[in-house]
Amino acid sequence: MQASSDTKKVPAPCPIGRAADVLGERWTLLILRNATLGTTRFDAFRAELGIADNILSNRLARLVEAGLLTRSPYRDGRRTRHEYRLTAAGAEALPILHALALWGERHTEPPRPVLPMRVVHRRCGQAVTPGQACDHCGETVRREDEAWVRPWVSPEPIPLAGPLAGPLEGGA
Ligand SMILES: [Zn+2]
Repeated sequence: MQASSDTKKVPAPCPIGRAADVLGERWTLLILRNATLGTTRFDAFRAELGIADNILSNRLARLVEAGLLTRSPYRDGRRTRHEYRLTAAGAEALPILHALALWGERHTEPPRPVLPMRVVHRRCGQAVTPGQACDHCGETVRREDEAWVRPWVSPEPIPLAGPLAGPLEGGA
């Protein structure tokens, strides 16, 4: 029976198509970016992204439903609010964010000249190529060793948030 226009989509056989169904929307990717940089609370996502409440609620719910974020309550004075944290699946979007950053630097222009985003090794502070050993100190750069410098926001490196402990934790 055909319901409303909101008919459930049939998953694509192609994994790129299926990933695009989950990730292929601007706000979804930007929420994941900020969650990767440690944002957990609704108000913080809203302030950082300049996103409308209803769109933020909708995208967070979709990310929770798709298994990329978890939603858990916390106490804010006498009120109960919720925070959102990356699951292992959400954390595994990191290479996608790296690829978007690289592509964006190469093929798009910022509105005014800015220093490029840098991925740095927290221990030595040097720029690294994601997924490779640090050229400076030779150590393997794992997620927990990685920070991003976004010079248009701050010169300070921001360490990446880890995924919630789960069965996939410690995999690499
Ligand atoms: Zn290093």
